[in-house]
Amino acid sequence: MKRCNSKSHVGRVHSIESFATQDGPGIRFLLFMQGCVASCLYCQNPDTWNLKAGFDMTAEEVLSKVKRCMPYIKASGGGITVSGGEPLLQMKFLVELFRLCKMNNIHTALDTSAFYNKHDEKLLQKLISATDLFILDIKAADETLHKKITSRPLDEVIDLLKILESEKRPYWLRYVLVPKLNDSKKDMQGLKKILTGLKYCEKLEFLPYHTLGKHKWEYMKLKYPLRNTSPASAQDLKKAQALLRKG
Ligand code: SF4
Repeated sequence: MKRCNSKSHVGRVHSIESFATQDGPGIRFLLFMQGCVASCLYCQNPDTWNLKAGFDMTAEEVLSKVKRCMPYIKASGGGITVSGGEPLLQMKFLVELFRLCKMNNIHTALDTSAFYNKHDEKLLQKLISATDLFILDIKAADETLHKKITSRPLDEVIDLLKILESEKRPYWLRYVLVPKLNDSKKDMQGLKKILTGLKYCEKLEFLPYHTLGKHKWEYMKLKYPLRNTSPASAQDLKKAQALLRKG
């Protein structure tokens, strides 16, 4: 792809969706970044894992695509959401992109599982300043289970949560509910414990586990780890929410 500005940081992109409605307020321009260091048992985008796959885009190139969608994005109170993969692995690019978006009055949201390189702490502060909304995935409230589901420590998520709280930044939390894996009374008690005292969490979304990404695992000749797990039903969600309320 042709570069607009040779000084720009290049982002490694997996794909783009120009009309998304589930990932932040209003209609969103959704940018999926390539690369992830986790290997979640139910990942619906295992094709984003490889850090070397995908294609390059500069922040200006992304911005010019977002601008073309602005009439309907603005009218809906939407903006841009960057997801992945794990977008925080490309922090320099994100800072540049979100700063450009803010200069153009575009709402910025970041969908992350909080997996990033600790050397990027300073950049993270810059990114936080340019991000209107964090959408933080928390995949289990228990350290051992979190590691089993994601291969990464829960502390990484909790640390980012603490940073957002101390910076007084609004965020949403997302919890993918997987039957018989992270939906027990003990799981909900653990989640409640994490939620207690959070001031800047605007909402907690329970997302039902589904198997829509399974075919990608098969296509990539990977064994799908949750092949014996059923999708979460509306009943499962209600039950978990009731357990969470009770604590
Ligand atoms: S963090 Fe997201 S992209 Fe990475 S493995 Fe987990 S679900 Fe997949």
